[in-house]
Amino acid sequence: MRSIEHIYVNGEFVVPAGNERLNLFNPTTEEKIGDVRLGNADDARAAVAAAKRAFPAMAASTKAQRIEMLRSLRDAIAERPDELAQAMTEEYGAPAYFTTFSLQNAASVFEVMAETVANYDFERIVGKSAVKMLPRGVLAAITPWNSNFGFIATKLAHAIGSGSPLVIKPAEQSAFQTDILVRRLHQAGLPAGVFNVVNGTGPVVGAALTEDPDVATISFTGSTQAAKIIQRAAIDSMKRVVLELGGKAPTIILPDADLDRAIPVALMSGFANSGQACVAGTRILAPRSRLTEIAERLKIETGRFRVGDPRDPDVRIGPLANPAQWERIQAYIRLGIEEGATLLTGGTGRPAGFEKGWFARPTIFTDVRNDMRIAREEIFGPVLCLIAYRDEDEAVEIANDSNYGLQAYVLGSDLRQAEQIAARLMAGRVVINGAPHDPRAPFGGFKQSGIGREIGAFGLDGMLEPRAILTP
Ligand code: ADP
Ligand code: MG
Repeated sequence: MRSIEHIYVNGEFVVPAGNERLNLFNPTTEEKIGDVRLGNADDARAAVAAAKRAFPAMAASTKAQRIEMLRSLRDAIAERPDELAQAMTEEYGAPAYFTTFSLQNAASVFEVMAETVANYDFERIVGKSAVKMLPRGVLAAITPWNSNFGFIATKLAHAIGSGSPLVIKPAEQSAFQTDILVRRLHQAGLPAGVFNVVNGTGPVVGAALTEDPDVATISFTGSTQAAKIIQRAAIDSMKRVVLELGGKAPTIILPDADLDRAIPVALMSGFANSGQACVAGTRILAPRSRLTEIAERLKIETGRFRVGDPRDPDVRIGPLANPAQWERIQAYIRLGIEEGATLLTGGTGRPAGFEKGWFARPTIFTDVRNDMRIAREEIFGPVLCLIAYRDEDEAVEIANDSNYGLQAYVLGSDLRQAEQIAARLMAGRVVINGAPHDPRAPFGGFKQSGIGREIGAFGLDGMLEPRAILTP
């Protein structure tokens, strides 16, 4: 049992003014593992005030100073990776293979941003004018539980790279990882107020930040639903919003695909992070000519996906993060059946042999039409749709017929053809044949998957505003 009592404001760990508490549970055992004292709107305001005081010095920092700060953050975060991985698994049941990836990625975002800053033209001549890219002011960042510390790292890297002080409202369910992370980041010795962390709920601390007139930019990762509330609230003080939201990624299996390679890749992306990933490839598009064969292979390979204790490195699917998530997944499985889709594998309830833990059965629906709700809405669990297409034009049409456009996957033997299909997809990222993660590629979505991009120069652009000086 652990209690998280502090937030981090102006370079110090302080007890928040807010005094409500939130219980924290281990989704594998359903046991209470601790609680967190939540901040309130006053705490949010105090953190913004601290960030505002840090702004002039931060805005005036040189490239070299920003790079040095980024490198000390990178070093601080890379220490004792097991501690963070353990917290992630304990708090939301992230499978070990996924926490390993997250940790490497979190350390790399600081290094990638250091490189970006080194190469970014903060000062340019445009026409006859001297243009300088200036930080917009205080940045507020709001992160989700499914990759809380990774997103904190990403948003902090953008803040430092652009010279903007930051207030972070982490996912309230992720208090252990936040606490471990912030204690590390504190050791990096950044000036007081440059980054501040206020635990609290979305409607209280998140809302206070989105309404605060001294916040210039909001960087949010989470649900499309919460993003709409945030964007509306941001209008009055004319904040810029950078939003990384939900997805319903298509995985197009091309007619020439080698199924020995394609099926495991399709399932790894579909069931990524137990299906609790905005980038999960949840619509598998298969050529009608090979539908039976592909369905059969998906079913067999899903049976080989180990569900269980997320600490086991061979486990591919852990529990869902909380009971609400479990209920939501059950409701979507029932909905798929009501809509007339056919269960290829899985279904409602817990997997056989599980008496406790918020485990769901890895589920694939077949006979799915792209206009069914299970094919249109983000389910955020291990539930996939298999959709047949006639020819490649129809595959592209179905893939793009979505309210979302975050990520897409293409699987095929002829790389040139796969690239041609990829070039027709409206998604922030298209991954061909299970290509490895590229920590330098821009990240973000089209349509209701978001606004703006993170990572690299595109990420920095979102935090900056040009000022032009015209001389006679
Ligand atoms: P989930 O419901 O799965 O947690 P959300 O999109 O609601 O996904 O949560 C992502 C983050 O957004 C969390 O930190 C949450 O506290 C925050 N949040 C939720 N609602 C709001 C809101 N109205 N205003 C600001 N932040 C919010
Ligand atoms: Mg929510």
